[in-house]
Amino acid sequence: MAEPLPVTEFIKALKNEGVEVVEYKTTWRTHNRGKRGDGWGPVQGVMLHHTVTRGETPEEVKRSVQLCWDGYDNLPGPLCHGVIAPDGKVYLVGYGRANHAGLGDDDVLRAVINETKIPADNEANTDGNARYYGFECINLGDGKDTWPPEQIDAMVRVSAAILRAHGWNKNGEGFISVIAHEEWQPGKVDPRGPGYPGHNAVRALVAERLKHPASWTPGAPTAPSTYTVKAGDTLGEIAERFHTTVAKLAALNKTLIKDPDDIQPGWKIKLK
Ligand SMILES: [Zn+2]
Repeated sequence: MAEPLPVTEFIKALKNEGVEVVEYKTTWRTHNRGKRGDGWGPVQGVMLHHTVTRGETPEEVKRSVQLCWDGYDNLPGPLCHGVIAPDGKVYLVGYGRANHAGLGDDDVLRAVINETKIPADNEANTDGNARYYGFECINLGDGKDTWPPEQIDAMVRVSAAILRAHGWNKNGEGFISVIAHEEWQPGKVDPRGPGYPGHNAVRALVAERLKHPASWTPGAPTAPSTYTVKAGDTLGEIAERFHTTVAKLAALNKTLIKDPDDIQPGWKIKLK
């Protein structure tokens, strides 16, 4: 159980973690959904999302942040606490209850609290907006819009900042109190896309970060060096996803790949 951080502690934690914070409007600290549903708190984890909007130009970034402030007709804002732009800047748009998580699975919440493996989300019985800090990352979520390393780094830093401030890092390894919206609410897919390393990899990066002081700056984020083939994958798609070519992958994995059109689920292929 945890009371939400006082807003001054929240912003201090982010800054200490090296996050470039932008206070979008001066009123963000009290911009929230009040006591609707279960209100806000006890808080138990951090949830990551993508916006399904563009963020290539400053105007597009501004429009995305404004949308997260305003929300939609049927889903009033704020839609999160912070919006993470592709360049890694984090725009603060709300504090308190925000409309980001919706109803999710109580088994998942238990795993988040206990820092254990996240089970499948097959129920929608728990008010997530009361339980999670929420960050929306600007990305179209169409499986093509690429996540820059700066944006991934900012996701890791905001997550680590909150976990550090709450002391939510019991086991010190990959199972920590950070989840994707996809893992919480049946039917959701976010976040996803090329350059996004996957939920477990993000958790591992946060866990690694928490072994260091908040001021830690790792080397440039590195791309993964292997990939495990899933059912339905083609070598062409894998090459595109990791910004390489079929020929390079075939050459790197010539003991495994005899025919580029014949790859099997479970194969662990080298990417570089
Ligand atoms: Zn979401």
